[in-house]
Amino acid sequence: GSLKKSRIGLCGLAVMGQNLALNVASKGFDISVYNRSGDKTETCVERAKKEGLGEKLRGYQDVGDFVDSLAKPRCVIILVKAGAPVDATIEKLSQFLEPGDCIIDGGNEWYENTERRAREVAEKGLLYIGMGVSGGEEGARNGPSMMPGGSREAYDIIADILKPVSAQTDSGACVTYIGPGGAGNFVKMVHNGIEYGDMQLISEAYDVLKTVGGLTNEELMAAFDDWNKAELESYLIEISSIILGKKDDQPGASGFLVDKILDKTGMKGTGKWTVQQAAELSVAAPTVASSLDARFLSGLKDERVAAEAFYAKLGLAPATAMGAADKKQLIKDVRYALYASKVMSYAQGMNLIRAKSNEQGWDLDLGEMARIWKGGCIIRAGFLDRIKSAYDRDAKLPSLLMDEQFAKEVIEREGAWRRVVTSAIAAGVAVPSMSGSLAYFDAYRRARSPANLVQGQRDFFGSHTYERTDMEGWYHTLWSDAN
Ligand code: NAP
Repeated sequence: GSLKKSRIGLCGLAVMGQNLALNVASKGFDISVYNRSGDKTETCVERAKKEGLGEKLRGYQDVGDFVDSLAKPRCVIILVKAGAPVDATIEKLSQFLEPGDCIIDGGNEWYENTERRAREVAEKGLLYIGMGVSGGEEGARNGPSMMPGGSREAYDIIADILKPVSAQTDSGACVTYIGPGGAGNFVKMVHNGIEYGDMQLISEAYDVLKTVGGLTNEELMAAFDDWNKAELESYLIEISSIILGKKDDQPGASGFLVDKILDKTGMKGTGKWTVQQAAELSVAAPTVASSLDARFLSGLKDERVAAEAFYAKLGLAPATAMGAADKKQLIKDVRYALYASKVMSYAQGMNLIRAKSNEQGWDLDLGEMARIWKGGCIIRAGFLDRIKSAYDRDAKLPSLLMDEQFAKEVIEREGAWRRVVTSAIAAGVAVPSMSGSLAYFDAYRRARSPANLVQGQRDFFGSHTYERTDMEGWYHTLWSDAN
């Protein structure tokens, strides 16, 4: 038509799509939007008008008209439910798209689905990107962290849009070309796994302070508030402080809302994928794995209620608030334990990304991953600067734990870390991610492990053979006369 063509299109106008579309429009780009159900398109157009962006954002009820409204090469961001809905949407769009046009899937997609779709649409000459987007609703509207992977050519076409739309930090825009294939989705998946770990570690810190230390909600809120001013400064610590301080808002209710929330965690699958991938690649990731286990156990609410009563009847009381002799010291110790555990978790996450990168030949830049997570996303934190710096010092670092800065920070906190884990264990308070992180550290920094005995056992019952510390070659021993 005579209408000026839009620079980009967005298909899928639920929470993420609507907010990202408004973000794109607010950065001055003309954008066309479409949704399977037309009412969401109307809502989006209305919101744009209310925000003074009516000129920039146009809604379409017909896919053909939507695609026709885009300037060539046409670029369409898809933000629908991951899985089959993405295939259905691509099917619809590709009836109208032409060779050279680009599809960018912004959902939390399994990386192999992205690689399959890239191959499929390539037959029609279309370029494909799988782009992880983090930051939830608020991030999508005001600046998310974005992890685009796949077609470099397509990235170069939309980079000028993605950069201003993403979160801005003093280390630049929170977007970069991640790598080929499904690299963008994979990195987003690990980001989510790290997010699981961070959330679990924070909840363990809360449990130790509350149950071992006997802190009140006001004291907890104040402690988290303080932590947010130092080395733990992060979005998740900030929101935890707000959550801890929120009064119950039900009519007639008193007390704190957090104490009324059912202790049963939901999940959507990216944490599970991360642990599955860690196992696939033989990368130890106990911090994420234990956070996933904690979510599984949280789901057994009825069983846990029964078990507590069962054990109490048999004489074993559950962990109850004890009260610390020195609350100030405990708060500092827990802060240190949380930080040291966090270092372990990110070391594991980075190792996982590197292992996948090596397997796939993606050539991912680990320092850049830390940089683009610094703003916009859920795990944003000052901490990520320190990871970036570690990889700047040595891009080939075998582990973050071999960086001298991080090593010094961990050593400084080691005593506190052990005190926290020890007192939690003594009180019967489970701290699987903190204790798992500590075990990871102790195992990693020890030259001699007890795996010699495992090798002996494997050779005993299965003739699997073993190597020796003092001689070359593989050995098998007849361990007993009965063998
Ligand atoms: P969502 O609830 O995951 O999906 C709803 C959207 O998918 C609607 O536009 C819906 O269209 C469309 N859809 C569902 N089935 C469809 C089908 N068979 N064919 C075509 N369209 C279909 O939306 P969301 O929460 O905005 O998330 C979008 C993506 O971003 C997901 O991959 C999600 O995992 C990811 N993500 C979400 C967040 C978040 O905070 N919500 C954060 C990061 C990433 P109708 O309106 O017609 O039903």
